[in-house]
Amino acid sequence: MSGILVFAEIHNGNLQASAMELLGAAKKLSEQTDNTVSAILMGDILEVEAGVAIQLGANQVYTISDTGFSATNIDCHVAALAHVNNVMQPSIILSSKTPLGKIVAPRLAYRLGVGVAQDCIDLNADPKTGRVTVTRPVYGGNAIAKFQFNDLDPQVIIIRERAFEPLTQDSTLSGDIIPLDFDVKNVAVKSRLVEVVKEEKKGIQMEDARVIIGGGRGLGGPEPFRLLEELAQLLGGTVGASRAVCDAGWMDHSYQIGLTGKTITPDMYITIGISGASQHMAGCSASKNIVAINRDPDANIFKLADFGVVGDWEQVLPSFTETVRELLDS
Ligand code: FAD
Repeated sequence: MSGILVFAEIHNGNLQASAMELLGAAKKLSEQTDNTVSAILMGDILEVEAGVAIQLGANQVYTISDTGFSATNIDCHVAALAHVNNVMQPSIILSSKTPLGKIVAPRLAYRLGVGVAQDCIDLNADPKTGRVTVTRPVYGGNAIAKFQFNDLDPQVIIIRERAFEPLTQDSTLSGDIIPLDFDVKNVAVKSRLVEVVKEEKKGIQMEDARVIIGGGRGLGGPEPFRLLEELAQLLGGTVGASRAVCDAGWMDHSYQIGLTGKTITPDMYITIGISGASQHMAGCSASKNIVAINRDPDANIFKLADFGVVGDWEQVLPSFTETVRELLDS
């Protein structure tokens, strides 16, 4: 078995940013192992997006054109991926930790009788053996562990969104588009999504934000979140919160970051009055930079932060925001 297969998700006819990131991860593995990169696209009209995948480094793009694919049709995606696996016999299958990818990939691995590595933030392949070592947070984000696959192929890997930079298109690249016959109607559907409840949140979603300002119980109440929003707006970001804040009703639970909240991977996460409990860090440890403002020098957050200010937020935050404003204006 050889080659890398990328499950490149299409939603509303568009190749997702997560697929562009996966192609970035695939490029890294292909350089280490000399494997070719293939992508599988499933959906309605795929020609244009298949071309985009090629310009993002895919040597081949398999397409299954069928209107029956939807983000809620899990069994069809699993069956179609198993079909592509039979055709291509890849050594590595990459999926993103998107709502669809994180459900489909483990089911695929189970169906193929192979292992799966969840929530990976980095990967490296042994150039001689092709075995992949993945890096992923463990113990609620308090430690980072490396795992290696056993000898069974394919190695199914689920990668956290934004762990890799999306590649930019290169119009000089060429590749093959290979349409596959696969009839969605023949798939036995064993599970179906009953309802999707859309979260009502204005502005930038936490999952997409490059900058997040997180507020904790140390803020003392809901009012200071106005100041966090002001800073977030200046930096083009959004606001998040600890569970203590959401449980107290200061912010809606859709803002909660952590083990039982959202997983975030912004370029910068600024925490204000957050202690850094392991359950909170489970959701933010893959942030590229963590900045902590806390008055307790022994707070756990300082062990994990890249930059920290020991002080009362009421003194630190206004001057911090003012300095940001001045820098942006200059
Ligand atoms: P606290 O722990 O009360 O910390 C407040 C911090 O503010 C302190 O460090 C204090 O020094 C600082 N402070 C106080 N006043 C000021 C000031 N004036 N200026 C500056 N700093 C100040 N938590 C999550 O966040 N997300 C989760 O998903 C989550 N899931 C959980 C799941 C389980 C099963 C369990 C058991 C717990 C979970 N928790 C989660 C809760 C978690 O354990 C913590 O209780 C919670 O994260 C604490 O929130 P906090 O840091 O805002 O509050």
